[in-house]
Amino acid sequence: MGLSFGKLFLLILVLAVVWFGWRYFRVREKEAEIAAERMRQGGVVKAALREEAETMAPCRVCRTYVSANSAPCARADCPQR
Ligand SMILES: [Zn+2]
Repeated sequence: MGLSFGKLFLLILVLAVVWFGWRYFRVREKEAEIAAERMRQGGVVKAALREEAETMAPCRVCRTYVSANSAPCARADCPQR
C-alpha cells in the first residue's frame, strides 16, 4: 500500500485547509463587494439629496417646490403666471 493512514490524513488536512481558505477568501470577497456596493449607493443617495437641497426651492406664490433656477416658478398653472 503506497497510501498509508498518515499520508491519507495529511491529504485530507491539506484539502481541508485549501477548502476553508478558499471559502474564507470567497466570503471576504463577497463582504468587500457588498460594502463597496453599499458605499456606492449611499454616496448616490447623499449626492441626490444634496442636489435636491441645492436646486429645489418653493415658489413664493404657489409654494410648489420647483427648481431654484426657474424663478419664480416653472409651473404652468402658477397663479403668478
Ligand atoms: Zn409658482
